[in-house]
Amino acid sequence: TQHGPAGGDSDALRCLRRVFGYDAFRGEQEAIVEHVVAGGDALVLMPTGGGKSLCYQIPALVRPGVGVVVSPLIALMQDQVDALRALGVRAGFLNSTQDADERRMVEAEFLAGELDLLYLAPERLRVDATLRLLDRGKISLFAIDEAHCVAQWGHDFRPDYLALSALHERWPDVPRIALTATATDATRREIATRLKLDDARHFVASFDRPNIQYRIVPKTEPKKQLLELLRAEHAGDAGVVYCMSRKGVEDTAAFLVQHGIDALPYHAGLDAATRAEHQARFLREDGIVMVATIAFGMGIDKPDVRFVAHLDLPKSVEGYYQETGRAGRDGLPSTAWLAYGLQDVVQQRKMIDGSEGDDAHRRRLAAHLDAMLALCETVECRRGRLLEYFGQEPEATSCGNCDTCLTPPVTWDGTIAAQKFLSAVFRLARERRQKFGAGQIIDILLGKKTAKVIQHDHDALTVFGIGTELSVAEWRAVVRQLLAQGLLAVEGEYGTLVLTEASGDVLGQRRQVPMRREPEKPGRSAKSGGA
Ligand code: ADP
Ligand code: ZN
Repeated sequence: TQHGPAGGDSDALRCLRRVFGYDAFRGEQEAIVEHVVAGGDALVLMPTGGGKSLCYQIPALVRPGVGVVVSPLIALMQDQVDALRALGVRAGFLNSTQDADERRMVEAEFLAGELDLLYLAPERLRVDATLRLLDRGKISLFAIDEAHCVAQWGHDFRPDYLALSALHERWPDVPRIALTATATDATRREIATRLKLDDARHFVASFDRPNIQYRIVPKTEPKKQLLELLRAEHAGDAGVVYCMSRKGVEDTAAFLVQHGIDALPYHAGLDAATRAEHQARFLREDGIVMVATIAFGMGIDKPDVRFVAHLDLPKSVEGYYQETGRAGRDGLPSTAWLAYGLQDVVQQRKMIDGSEGDDAHRRRLAAHLDAMLALCETVECRRGRLLEYFGQEPEATSCGNCDTCLTPPVTWDGTIAAQKFLSAVFRLARERRQKFGAGQIIDILLGKKTAKVIQHDHDALTVFGIGTELSVAEWRAVVRQLLAQGLLAVEGEYGTLVLTEASGDVLGQRRQVPMRREPEKPGRSAKSGGA
């Protein structure tokens, strides 16, 4: 415990106890708080639930003046401010949800020095009137929450954040603290550069969430697999189920309700009142399963979320980590469960190819997807791979609390299968000038005379029927792993498959292709004992 110069407790510690009612700082909080109280800039990387808020709230209370907090979470500002006011902290916010009168009242409080904390939406700082208002008050610090929103490389870029570098130019003496739960080295460097945090001290907390059990399973019948998981391991528990589309959310929520589970849908297509009601019920009642798009969750502080399930592949490892990080904030055992299949890859490639923006942007999205695929198909410890992705050295090669550690996947030499599949792709391109999706190519390898095979005369290909040793599911697993290893690529609207530069090494017998065998009981990999 830190002691102040007078030998008693520091102002910060007294504030922690008196205002927030906590006994002690957690982890790096104390060092961060002392650094900012002393006027230093800081860049804080801490996982969700790590306790970032206190890192700026306490310095704002200890230092003279008003702490200005920039946050993109407009929908949560009212709640945050209410919670602070309940603790006796004088907090207010300015955003687009207020009318002119409400705004004027908050501005008057700010000018009169009657606020400790002022929350601002980033777009407010592009308005000259806001800057002039801030000029007329006394500012103790700037806190930039969700700072990864400034990074174009990240998954949550917001153009308004780019304007925040102006804070330093206009108020060079006011300390700034940028906070985020996203922390690849690339993102961290980009935050520091774009916010001009040249002299900031970096505080990087461990990203390990030891109480979360990571599991990634092949997707067969996602809703059924999910129901089985909930019944077997999470009966009556609160959890979040993420789906990519609004329709996926609606269908899944209806399915769960039909099977007696207290599920609610949440997506941007629902009206604001319904969304607010569902969110409130999730927070207040026990055992609600929120089925949602990723529109749900940022800033939600519910400690006892026992599982986070993904029925569709997240777009990036960063997104996956943030979403799964909403499980188990109370430190108790929790599950992060993801079902993913070949169709996810095809669909996401399609979205990337059709996305707006330049080639560099598309390449970034593709790199994010590739990293996510590699995590899905790894035969090593998932936690280890996650931590490495965030630039952190794992403590051990095996964590004992992820599916690959609990049930080590059996690997097999997939070189011949890979050669067969790739040569089918090659022959179609070379002899027929055709490209097809996985389904047709698998039918060809299995020697199935489907209407489409006959129509295209594909039974005349030399590769027809050469792959009957594997099932359809096994071939699909082969395709996923070829994609994850960069030996095959998906393109275009129809998810057609094409060779990559590396494919030649496999076809030319210069490269082996180890593969992971599908678990026998898909969906229960961690508990099903062996593949
Ligand atoms: P983050 O913003 O990093 O996701 P929060 O600031 O919302 O995390 O904090 C997560 C939870 O931990 C909150 O409920 C908060 O009150 C609690 N918390 C933070 N710091 C401490 C502490 N030093 N002692 C006890 N609880 C804390
Ligand atoms: Zn592990």
